[in-house]
Amino acid sequence: MIATEFSYSAPDTLHAALALLADGAKPLAGGMSLVPMMKLRLAQPEHLVDLRKVPGLSSISEENGRLHIGALATHYEIESSDVVRSLCPLLATTAGKIGDVQIRNVGTIGGSLAHADPAADYPAAILALDATLVLSSTGGRREVAATDFFVDTFTTAVEPGELLTEIIVAASPPGARTAYKKMQNPASGFALVGIAVIAARAGGVVSTCRIGVTGVSGKAFRATTAETKLIGSAGTKADIAEAVKGIAAAEEANNDIHASADYRKAMAEVYAARALEAVLR
Ligand SMILES: Cc1cc2nc3c(=O)[nH]c(=O)nc-3n(C[C@H](O)[C@H](O)[C@H](O)COP(=O)(O)OP(=O)(O)OC[C@H]3O[C@@H](n4cnc5c(N)ncnc54)[C@H](O)[C@@H]3O)c2cc1C
Repeated sequence: MIATEFSYSAPDTLHAALALLADGAKPLAGGMSLVPMMKLRLAQPEHLVDLRKVPGLSSISEENGRLHIGALATHYEIESSDVVRSLCPLLATTAGKIGDVQIRNVGTIGGSLAHADPAADYPAAILALDATLVLSSTGGRREVAATDFFVDTFTTAVEPGELLTEIIVAASPPGARTAYKKMQNPASGFALVGIAVIAARAGGVVSTCRIGVTGVSGKAFRATTAETKLIGSAGTKADIAEAVKGIAAAEEANNDIHASADYRKAMAEVYAARALEAVLR
């Protein structure tokens, strides 16, 4: 099938892009998700605004110890960036596990986060990192915490006329270690279950622990009950086993041709234990 007719603009300033969005246009980043949806006519935008000529939207930099990633940075740019690898290896590792090399060369972090596919990889890492997402519009800019960004399946806090322009990640606590473990769909690479963890110890006990879970249900979530159980514990194998029990029990898990709801919940426990053991033991 081919897409319905649409008009196309490729502005070369952020100001011009935001003005078009304010008029109801839809942003186009890598097109890896939007174009297939247009071909299937699940999306029928009348006007597309290609973001790729807007300067500065794909920059990656460190400012005062915080990592700033432009929304147009591709998965490959994040995976291979020395700045990301040194300040935030979890994001580089996660980017490297998305799809295949063609997808990683074109798909962008902003497109992936704004699309909010329940099986996407980045949301788990963004939640575990407690990142801040910057949304810009003709009315100004606002910051949204990762925990408030993912609203539902394919639905985020981005309002009509807004553009996700930047992702900011604060410095990790000293000694923090991270891991991303996923059980992937062998055809697409999307996560049936994906678990991102950041954890640190202080004084012999777990002092920081944040766990982001993707793939299991309609939207990615923080496993706060498991985090609370681990903080203050010695982080032994037994502590981890106890903490991950029922990690997705409260979720309405996806039940589809790729995996049943019960299987996803069971695998969430298995992959969470693997990720936590990788960072704590
Ligand atoms: C074969 C295949 C395998 C894949 N495997 C994986 C995988 O293993 N893991 C994974 O996580 N993903 C996977 N993906 C998805 C891939 O990561 C996409 O690149 C990503 O989901 C969308 O990014 P994009 O830049 O292509 O966005 P686009 O397709 O251009 O846009 C997606 C949506 O986001 C909106 N949008 C784009 N940029 C912005 C912005 N800055 N602000 C606000 N809204 C915006 C668009 O309007 C559209 O609604 C796969 C895709 C394919 C085709």
